[in-house]
Amino acid sequence: MDRFGVYAYCGYDLPADERFKKIKEAGFKKVGVWCHSDFNTYSGISEYEQFKFVREQGLAVSYAHAPTGQAPYLSNKYYGAKDAVKTHKLYVKSAKEQGVGIIVMHLPEVTPVVIDHVAEIAAFATDLGAKVAVENLVGKTPFDELFREVGDVYFCYDSCHALMFGDRDGEMASRYMDRLVATHLSDGDGKSDCHYMIGDGAFDFATLAKRLREGGYEGDFVSEAFRSAEYADISEFLSTTKARLEEFFA
Ligand SMILES: [Zn+2]
Repeated sequence: MDRFGVYAYCGYDLPADERFKKIKEAGFKKVGVWCHSDFNTYSGISEYEQFKFVREQGLAVSYAHAPTGQAPYLSNKYYGAKDAVKTHKLYVKSAKEQGVGIIVMHLPEVTPVVIDHVAEIAAFATDLGAKVAVENLVGKTPFDELFREVGDVYFCYDSCHALMFGDRDGEMASRYMDRLVATHLSDGDGKSDCHYMIGDGAFDFATLAKRLREGGYEGDFVSEAFRSAEYADISEFLSTTKARLEEFFA
């Protein structure tokens, strides 16, 4: 299925060109990437090189994830806030120039000040024809106020984070279905931010799949699992990821 993807840095420290090749070999059509540079610092590649590797493998980018270092400053009214907003706009602009229409970002919290900043970034994205999607990190209903206030900010559902706060099967995805444009799919133990392989933990992916189908979700299904000892190498990890996505979401 063309809507299956994997986060390009899945915890295996291979040079980026090899990693994108392995992803292609495992049968994926899409990747999630870190905005502007490869997440894997070992590869040390630039924003343009990363997208060159993606294109060389004939892959499409499902979303680009904003680096999280600037996110805390979005809470401030003054100190660092202007730079944080500006930097997020640059992530949006550079991703869009590479043909990526969805930029996922983390929020430090949801307060009136953060809502104002997100509204400014979202409006910038809308003008460019891109979408900013906020990812759930904590809580069960984190974005009620934000979505009420801002019409053009979207949602990225992270199953592992949701599980840590009692959503075991996609309740939050249903709640925010009208904003849902991206997924970070991984399993967990419900206690820690562990990002296990889909199907290796306590999350009910069959029910999530049903909710997404019935809710009319049209976005991609992207694994955000990370390397674990059960899988000998990246090839085994990626082929298992693909099989698990097919098992639940095909
Ligand atoms: Zn995530």
